Amino acid sequence: MSLERYPVIVPDQDYYRQMVKCQAACPVLTDARGYVTAVAQGNIELGYQIARDPNPLSTICGRICGAPCEVACRRGSIGPDHEPVAIRPLKRVVTEQYGPEAFLRLPGTIEVPVIQSNGVQPVSGQDFSTGPWSRHTLEVLAAQPSRKRGSVAVIGAGPSSLATAHDLSVLGHRVEIFEAGPKSGGMIRYGVPIYRMDWEAMDSEVQAIVDLGVKIHYDTRIGETITLKELRSDFDAVFLGIGLMQGRKLNVEGSDLDGVVPAVDMLLNYNLGYQVQLGKRVVVVGGGDVAMDAARTALRLGMATEEQTEALEDKDARLDEEADTVRTALDVARTALRLGVGNVRVIALESWDELPASRFELEEAEEEGIHITPRLGPVRVLGENGRVTGLEVIDVAAVFDDVGRFNPRFVPGTNQVLECDSVILAIGQTADLAPLKGAEDVEISPRGLVAINQETGQTSAQDVFAGGDVAYGPRMIIHAVRDGHIAAWAGTTGT
Ligand SMILES: Cc1cc2nc3c(=O)[nH]c(=O)nc-3n(C[C@H](O)[C@H](O)[C@H](O)COP(=O)(O)OP(=O)(O)OC[C@H]3O[C@@H](n4cnc5c(N)ncnc54)[C@H](O)[C@@H]3O)c2cc1C
Repeated sequence: MSLERYPVIVPDQDYYRQMVKCQAACPVLTDARGYVTAVAQGNIELGYQIARDPNPLSTICGRICGAPCEVACRRGSIGPDHEPVAIRPLKRVVTEQYGPEAFLRLPGTIEVPVIQSNGVQPVSGQDFSTGPWSRHTLEVLAAQPSRKRGSVAVIGAGPSSLATAHDLSVLGHRVEIFEAGPKSGGMIRYGVPIYRMDWEAMDSEVQAIVDLGVKIHYDTRIGETITLKELRSDFDAVFLGIGLMQGRKLNVEGSDLDGVVPAVDMLLNYNLGYQVQLGKRVVVVGGGDVAMDAARTALRLGMATEEQTEALEDKDARLDEEADTVRTALDVARTALRLGVGNVRVIALESWDELPASRFELEEAEEEGIHITPRLGPVRVLGENGRVTGLEVIDVAAVFDDVGRFNPRFVPGTNQVLECDSVILAIGQTADLAPLKGAEDVEISPRGLVAINQETGQTSAQDVFAGGDVAYGPRMIIHAVRDGHIAAWAGTTGT
């Protein structure tokens, strides 16, 4: 008998934890099974405690979390007739009744008797999470009389920053957030279209964090109003949660014409209430930046470069990025419809089956009137008098090669022009690292992100931590929350 053939597993605690797939899949280890069961038993309050314990942004997540728990849910793998448990909507049910947004119904007839304004049940005294960042654990630590308390400047008011500010504040540190924009929430406010997120509910969740003693300075861009150097001398530590606020550019002929707009710029302007003029016909180009680079090179040379192929072989990272850009493409397309654009088309390199979006998301967009055309690659933007008039595209023969590597090939002679007034680029985002000017001791990774120790969130500079998209590239809100926890926790253990 060989060990390889008959591997023996001696089950330890971790083994059993991995068996609870929904919980293991959640970056903050939320006990989804626990709160779903509590809801089924009619104990919504307990359900809220369980859902909220590891996640100070449970209200936001109950609405738009990417829900890796549902992907992992065992029920979804029973067979084709079974769907995963609707974990995310159930989180919404519990937060609506017991989360900070329940206060929005006050003063009214609905009683919310025992929840504090910070949205946490004060009477639980119980640990509902296997992560070290459980609210209960933080409170126990905070109560230690010998605990050292310091001051932390947090740059950006997105999910990673809000989570770290929450934990640090519960631990008794002085926390000040410096946010470039006029509002909190980061990409949830500036990127996610309003029809997907309830801003009032989000504001109540941010307010619960502010109520812990966190101060937020709005319209304060670090690098302009105040420098990182100044913050480092005024505070014991700094957390960088500045996200990826710049849209990537498409490096093809005509991409500097008027009417070529990065998706994030368009969403940000729309969400902040500024005027956005797109014309009557819009083409949205979807796809991750690495995929786009490879596609462009393939178009010119007939193949992707070795470097690009290597980058694309990191399939998980690529799929994450692609999923993110498809989601952004759909968001921006649906927003364009709401701005009155009559004809909105999304093009993508992948075929229907390869598109990293759920069938439901695609169908919903089509039902709204968006034309999704898979297997088309952008060749160049056409224009007249400096303005876009169309996008030349070419058919994609295959996106993956025989061994399953991403290696797009095109069908020669299939070029056609999609006439349009605007081309929106949903091809990924980059970090604006201007605030790091003068902080040469903070290393930048080859991907143009802030390099961190993933166990602690610490950068190469001892007093500077980072997390969220600026450290990992585009991911989900719940990952950013985990990063915030990790950085706060690292400070706690004195790392
Ligand atoms: C269109 C779109 C839709 C998405 N939809 C979903 C979804 O449905 N579900 C999901 O789970 N995830 C979604 N995501 C991903 C999610 O929004 C991000 O992963 C998450 O917001 C990243 O959080 P963060 O804290 O890293 O930074 P961000 O949310 O990007 O926030 C960064 C903050 O830093 C501020 N900032 C930047 N520079 C400075 C500076 N110099 N000084 C001060 N402040 C600064 C910015 O103004 C911003 O407020 C979506 C992303 C996009 C773009």
